Amino acid sequence: MEARRGLLIILSGPSGVGKGTIRKKVMEDKSLNLAFSISCTTRLPRPLERDGVDYYFVKKDYFEKLIREDELLEWAEFVGHYYGTPRGPVEKMREEGKNVILEIEVEGAKQVMAKCRGNDVVSIFIMPPSLEALVERIHSRKNERRTNIEERLAKATREMGLKYNYQYVVLNDDVDRAAEEVKNIIRDKLNATIES
Ligand code: 5GP
Repeated sequence: MEARRGLLIILSGPSGVGKGTIRKKVMEDKSLNLAFSISCTTRLPRPLERDGVDYYFVKKDYFEKLIREDELLEWAEFVGHYYGTPRGPVEKMREEGKNVILEIEVEGAKQVMAKCRGNDVVSIFIMPPSLEALVERIHSRKNERRTNIEERLAKATREMGLKYNYQYVVLNDDVDRAAEEVKNIIRDKLNATIES
């Protein structure tokens, strides 16, 4: 029997909100059959980040080639670096029936929402409990330069204004609770697409 095409799950939220932690917790639930789309970026790896696991860390020239050759489902510039979703792997995973999570910023999310309008797309925006909590998180990334921190905070404020472009807004007041809420959203969406 052919696998049912997987969902596309867009997960956005300001830098430092804890999207990655929530995403990892959500992915522990094997019943949801999730896969993570590994993005390409031109920024340098942070300590503990691994090439091919967290991101594909690539050179600017290579990224620009991917843009020219239309290999990216979406891409955006964020605080001086490129970030983008390779199209091929996402398509392949969805064809195999995997529900694919894109952990991306708001510009890229807008591109995906414009391109993929079907019933098989779900968009979720993660909000911090307060701006103070976010400031603290961004500052705690010790290898981030000060100018970068300021830019990320300014960007975060702008991004939060776009939360209503998303189907769901989830408050990260507690990581476990927020992860449960995201899981329920995905579960409901899966049930709804099976029934339709
Ligand atoms: P960071 O440098 O903190 O890992 O990521 C910066 C921002 O870029 C985050 O909001 C992250 O979710 C987003 N991002 C990561 N990968 C992609 C991608 O492939 N496309 C877009 N548009 N944003 C991405």
